[in-house]
Amino acid sequence: MSSTSLPFVLDLLRHDLEATIGYRLSVLPRPAVFDQDVDSVWLVGRARSRTGVLATTGLSTVELILQVAEHVQDFVQEEMAVVSGSNWPECPIHRGTHPAQPKDVDGVATWTCPEVGVSIAPIGKLHRVPDEGNRASPEPGR
Ligand SMILES: [Zn+2]
Repeated sequence: MSSTSLPFVLDLLRHDLEATIGYRLSVLPRPAVFDQDVDSVWLVGRARSRTGVLATTGLSTVELILQVAEHVQDFVQEEMAVVSGSNWPECPIHRGTHPAQPKDVDGVATWTCPEVGVSIAPIGKLHRVPDEGNRASPEPGR
């Protein structure tokens, strides 16, 4: 677990974004801040706006995922607000009400419902709630 890095965490969120709303996260792999205690990259928005994502070094894997998830969530919500006012990721229990919240659930960084506290999926494992049938999502080869 010591190899958890910002690119790894961004891949988890990239997966969740593409799986749920088909949004492709655009990352500029250059430091957003010059601080040896912080790992950082830029997220690039539709209007070429840039938002820095910061990852404090020395965090546990779960803490790192939660920190980055919150940054990415803020970024995506601002991005989507321009288009459709979306809550990302939408809480599947309360659709159209609020987004899921990143939270440490028994040591796993998890999307949860902020209202009733129910776990939705581990971060990096979101999938579109099937409207019909049951489409298996491919497991990342590991
Ligand atoms: Zn909810």
